[in-house]
Amino acid sequence: MLLGSGGREDALAWRLRQSPSCGKLIAAPGNPGIARWAECVAVDPCDAAAVADLARREAIGLVVIGPEAPLVAGVADALRFAGFAVFGPNAAAAQLEGSKGFTKDLCRASGIPTADYVRVARPDDAKAALDRFGIPVVIKADGLAAGKGVTVAMTRAEAEAAIDAAGDGPLVIEEFLEGEEASLFALVDGESAVPLASAQDHKRVGEGDTGPNTGGMGAYAPAPVLTADLEARAMDEIVRPTARALAQAGTPFNGVLYAGLMLTADGPKLIEYNVRFGDPECEAIMPLIDGDFAELLHSVATGRLGEIEPKLTGKHAVTVIVAARGYPGTPASGGLIREIDAAEQVEGVTVFHAGTALGEQGLIAKGGRVLAVTATADTFANARARAYRAVDQIDFADGFHRRDIGWRELEREGA
Ligand code: AMP
Repeated sequence: MLLGSGGREDALAWRLRQSPSCGKLIAAPGNPGIARWAECVAVDPCDAAAVADLARREAIGLVVIGPEAPLVAGVADALRFAGFAVFGPNAAAAQLEGSKGFTKDLCRASGIPTADYVRVARPDDAKAALDRFGIPVVIKADGLAAGKGVTVAMTRAEAEAAIDAAGDGPLVIEEFLEGEEASLFALVDGESAVPLASAQDHKRVGEGDTGPNTGGMGAYAPAPVLTADLEARAMDEIVRPTARALAQAGTPFNGVLYAGLMLTADGPKLIEYNVRFGDPECEAIMPLIDGDFAELLHSVATGRLGEIEPKLTGKHAVTVIVAARGYPGTPASGGLIREIDAAEQVEGVTVFHAGTALGEQGLIAKGGRVLAVTATADTFANARARAYRAVDQIDFADGFHRRDIGWRELEREGA
């Protein structure tokens, strides 16, 4: 059973369904894309009692939790307590994503490389703390903010404005880190952790990485900038010490730990953790995973990580998000979407549904990010070309997308 209803979950469902060990897949609540691979049941993924009832009724062998909200709400705890195998951390370990302050304190206590910081309870303290850091400086709301509670202030005035705008809640003030960002996805089962895949994404809405932040307008995997050496360092210096610290605190992590890294001149430093797959990184990673994915996740959920080694195909994947006009503000809702089949005729392409619904005339947009068009190929450049060829097949008048997903990688390959 899979919990969630976005593009990430469509990719997870697609990959789980191809697993020899997966006989049947239930999604709660799912979406029209997920309905291609799973039986969708209208159950709120944050309602632990309803999810547990459904799991009992269906005699579920493994529950995979896609989004962060049910994890932070303790749905994994409730399911484990009811005796189910669950891929996804308990609420105590999900604080790695739910509370930036929690993660920063854990890093400091365990000597994990990350930006220097202070936690403050009130805006006045925050302004006083600014003197400790130069400019630029980073201001973060200390809670689950879906990527929106962060300001990288390029001037003192901007920093003070961000503090004023944050209101009364607790904040984290951070040293600005310089470098290129990359994401590392590791499978963690208590004290053991193994790397699964790397990716890079594009957070800004506009081409050239301009304009407001979004949930992500595209991604590609792997991220060659995270070399084998850097990945090994990130596992040894960041991910494994985190897993150990949580296990020693009596709140072991189980699931996928997504480390947002800054590749600085001093090596990889942690920017943030997420306690689930990234969206849209997941859409780019799933087509690259070789072998029985459901069995791999089951081995994590049942504390047998190490019995199965994650394997990748060695290919490259590029995901282009098609969003509804207006996103990340108020997106146009209800626009007709046609020719997804034509897009999927392009070799190596799958169109995952991020925000769609079935209207009277067919598939319509429902949400900001609508489709995640994903292509794989033997090289990054070919995967990217296929993804855009597929995007160009889609007839969605209310939609827009970025034409420059993967520009960094393209420049590197060109060089
Ligand atoms: P977060 O929600 O913590 O991932 O922050 C969102 C984005 O803000 C990150 O993806 C970075 O681009 C940027 N950011 C966060 N913290 C820092 C930092 N200490 N130095 C530089 N950039 C940062």
